[in-house]
Amino acid sequence: MAEPTTHEAHAADFPEIREAVRALCARFPGAYWRARDRERAYPEDFVRTLTEAGYLAALIPEDYGGSGLPLAAAAAILEEIHSSGGNGAACHAQMYTMGTILRHGSEAQKRRWLPEIAAGELRLQAFGVTEPGSGTDTLSLATTARREGEHYVVHGQKVWTSRAEHSDLMLLLARTTPRAEVRRKGEGLSVFLVDLREATAGEAPPVVIRPIRTMINHATTEVFIDGLEVPADNLIGEEGQGFRYILDGMNAERILIAAECIGDARWFIDTARAYAAERQVFGRPIGQNQGIQFPIARAYAETEAADLMVKRAAALFDAGEPCGAEANMAKLLAADASWAAAEACLQTHGGYGFAEEYDVERKFRETRLYQVAPVSTNLILAYLAEHVLGLPRSY
Ligand SMILES: Cc1cc2nc3c(=O)[nH]c(=O)nc-3n(C[C@H](O)[C@H](O)[C@H](O)COP(=O)(O)OP(=O)(O)OC[C@H]3O[C@@H](n4cnc5c(N)ncnc54)[C@H](O)[C@@H]3O)c2cc1C
Repeated sequence: MAEPTTHEAHAADFPEIREAVRALCARFPGAYWRARDRERAYPEDFVRTLTEAGYLAALIPEDYGGSGLPLAAAAAILEEIHSSGGNGAACHAQMYTMGTILRHGSEAQKRRWLPEIAAGELRLQAFGVTEPGSGTDTLSLATTARREGEHYVVHGQKVWTSRAEHSDLMLLLARTTPRAEVRRKGEGLSVFLVDLREATAGEAPPVVIRPIRTMINHATTEVFIDGLEVPADNLIGEEGQGFRYILDGMNAERILIAAECIGDARWFIDTARAYAAERQVFGRPIGQNQGIQFPIARAYAETEAADLMVKRAAALFDAGEPCGAEANMAKLLAADASWAAAEACLQTHGGYGFAEEYDVERKFRETRLYQVAPVSTNLILAYLAEHVLGLPRSY
């Protein structure tokens, strides 16, 4: 009997969900992702299939049409997508962006949006926070929203707004009170739900979306906003408190993306060990050489350790406990583990690691993103230094 793969051996939590997601992913093999990657095309069939199976509504409570699962289950879903060789980045945002509506929206807003999102009739995949002039320094964002009667009028520009072309709705962070007029710099920002279908329609629409071609297939864009009218009913929570709401969702985002990194790491480790066992050079398998074994074994150990932190962070989140430090550490350690596994896998494959048909170079490019987004490694270290270790703020 064949040895279990590393992800099979660690599928103790949510085994049925994991098995079902793996079966779904088997319908979207490497050739499917390679073709989308080559054309920089959105994996529409995959996203539709995942939506119809209810996985993107995993975290929406049953009262609003979802399955009301814990974050740990959502993490298992994304991990399985990635350990199967796929990429959840095409749609993962919906899992955490809807949390802002769920936790901070009014009952009327939840009833209006969540059931349609859960049913797959509406997509909430776009999250407009980053701007060209702000980047890591979110609080310096310059997009403004000014109240005029029953509307807010929005002007500004977002960048790296992923999936905006494939989303009906966008969660938008904008400044409603000038920075000079607020007591604390985290105040004065507000969150809106923007209907992109209306906003981009017509000959001179107030919102224009331009794709950015990147080294990975990520459907990311620039969004130009000029005089967009957003109904006041689409303001989530209280005006001026939006940054707090966004921060609140970031722990979920970090834990889920960390789970994707664990999935990537397991894919790289399994792919590397299979190739190392099979490839013969000097009349013996290359996996017999410690120079090949050790980087794979080290990446394995790092992945297992990171996975424990992902699980701990998810358990704290699900228990409603503070989990900022754990969510950040999970993201840091899992992204480092997937990058170490990617490097070991590519090196194990020698020249063939560069050939498209092995998927290694695609996954290598994809997992590199997580050193930078949604929060860079440096900023996590700065968070830990300041908030956990009590060192002076460095920025
Ligand atoms: C493919 C992709 C998809 C994305 N999707 C989205 C999305 O859907 N929505 C969204 O809002 N954003 C998205 N982002 C944006 C992402 O969150 C930012 O790229 C990230 O936060 C870093 O911001 P920046 O690119 O402006 O880098 P910068 O802020 O310019 O930073 C550049 C480098 O300097 C480092 N640095 C900056 N300040 C410090 C400091 N004080 N100490 C130490 N190092 C520092 C950073 O760590 C980074 O390595 C996406 C980005 C990419 C590449």
